[in-house]
Amino acid sequence: MCGIVGYIGPKQATPLLIEGLKRLEYRGYDSAGVAVYDGESLETRRAAGKIVKLEGALAADPVTGKVGIAHTRWATHGPPTERNAHPHLSSDDSVAVVHNGIIENADVLRKQLTALGHTFRSDTDTETISHLVQELYDGSLEEAVIGALRKVEGTFGIAVVSSRDPQKIVAARKGSPLLIGVGDGEYFLASDASAILAHTRQVVYLDDGDLAVLTPDGYKVMDINASPIRRSVERIEWDLEAIERGGFDHFMLKEIFEQPTTVGNTMRGRLILEDGTSKLGGINMSHEQLMNIDNVVITACGTSWHSALIGEMMIEDFARIPTEVEYASEFRYRNPIVTPRTLCIVISQSGETADTLAAMREAKRRGAHTLGFVNVVGSTIAREDDGGIYLHAGPEIGVASTKAFTSQVIALALFALKLGRKRTLSVMRGREIAQALDALPKQIQSILDQAAAIEKIADSYKDAHNFLYLGRGYNFPAALEGALKLKEISYIHAEGYPAAEMKHGPIALIDESMPVVFIAPHDAVFDKIVSNIQEVKARHGKTIVITSRDEPALEGLIDHEIRIPETVDMLTPVLASIPLQLLAYYIAVKRGANVDQPRNLAKSVTVE
Ligand code: GLU
Repeated sequence: MCGIVGYIGPKQATPLLIEGLKRLEYRGYDSAGVAVYDGESLETRRAAGKIVKLEGALAADPVTGKVGIAHTRWATHGPPTERNAHPHLSSDDSVAVVHNGIIENADVLRKQLTALGHTFRSDTDTETISHLVQELYDGSLEEAVIGALRKVEGTFGIAVVSSRDPQKIVAARKGSPLLIGVGDGEYFLASDASAILAHTRQVVYLDDGDLAVLTPDGYKVMDINASPIRRSVERIEWDLEAIERGGFDHFMLKEIFEQPTTVGNTMRGRLILEDGTSKLGGINMSHEQLMNIDNVVITACGTSWHSALIGEMMIEDFARIPTEVEYASEFRYRNPIVTPRTLCIVISQSGETADTLAAMREAKRRGAHTLGFVNVVGSTIAREDDGGIYLHAGPEIGVASTKAFTSQVIALALFALKLGRKRTLSVMRGREIAQALDALPKQIQSILDQAAAIEKIADSYKDAHNFLYLGRGYNFPAALEGALKLKEISYIHAEGYPAAEMKHGPIALIDESMPVVFIAPHDAVFDKIVSNIQEVKARHGKTIVITSRDEPALEGLIDHEIRIPETVDMLTPVLASIPLQLLAYYIAVKRGANVDQPRNLAKSVTVE
């Protein structure tokens, strides 16, 4: 998720590492650190907060040496404190590790390593790797790293140094990017080319499964069996700005395209396919507590409020618990019915949304058990809730939320699945849902592959003054979210409505200049929405229909069609939201709007 930099060569490592970390700042992070070999031992300096804090620590207590690794952390396991900042040392201080990603079996490894006498000094999943490498070291750092990686499950980009084999940086990747920078008699390692571009444009991109060893004299790439692999040196022609956005024109587009990965990360280590349920360690609720819930209140703002509406349907459908969704800003000033048997779920990307935080505090005061569904680890909501589910979607920089929304829906689905299986949901149905969740990353990718076709549709409607988004059932909230995305970034007036509700008012607006987006996958309400499409067509509205199969009933009713794969009804809004995000994005770009920083909006709304 976050940043890795490494250096080995004739120069002082620390300034180069810090410079590299600063280049990665745009990715968002919560703490930072370096480990440098000073000729005798590994010296680490770490700090919570911005890189200037780390610079302060280094100024107070400098480290010199020509081999080093550095990291900006975006916490997934444990709050963003100095003790959790990377690099993490092994028990005997001989090994230092920086890591991007998530080690899924960290709990099991932690127990095993503790039994072997290792003392953990952080809450992170990463620290298990340092101890494992120490444990397996037998003369060669790369062999010890290979041994350790055979034991870990999950995703990683890692860099490892050791005072016992000090003229080396060993790196490996699986699911988290890493590249080698080939300089003039010096070598760099980075999770993102922008970190090293000032020093070299020659890079070797590592693939998943690759391991690399960097020394002052060169580098080699190998697989997990230590068999050498040839990877070509490529020349980077992009400028810094484009690299920061991963080659995409905007962060928003990059984040839309990250969704196969981010959705996978939200589910990682949590989905139990066999039992058709989920494992959610962080909710801190016993079986009794989960069984004793009388009602659920979900409170949120903006996009998170839309995911809440989907969550409401899932919880009622599968766990049969009465659920209500409240705008956080309304909830906090009402006199809501909340008892000690109420479960209050609060949803916020940043975990700092002022209204949502206040609503959670109010629910707590009234005795409810609170769960925070947040993306930013260690944020205020995450610290004050009774338990929660981290989204693990990685830093979201585009102001209009995209990947956090899909991860919120996934987190709610995981929770509804767990709750459902405890109550009324059969194992067969649970398995069907779990399998559908598991299939989402690939399905999302197949929609992203149609981006060019969606861009073409955007061409036809970029000058529209109004848009209507209609959906039913699980896709009514998707319609609201589609309309909000368009409003936020293109400044076109757009409304989302339950499709059948249209005839009670908005139908008056329909004429040949009104584009209407229908979210009509083949779900339980498909036949119903066909009538609504007919009503629009009869009034010469323009229809953009998101659907999932060839349907004779739709013949002659569609001006533009977007296909999404089929899934269980509850997950259709996840797939439908991908083309909605792309449509909003392309329309906004074609209108010349500042997509990443729309006017009047802020990423984290910390005012009432
Ligand atoms: N899972 C690790 C942690 O929480 C790494 C997070 C990251 O990618 O920065 O420390």
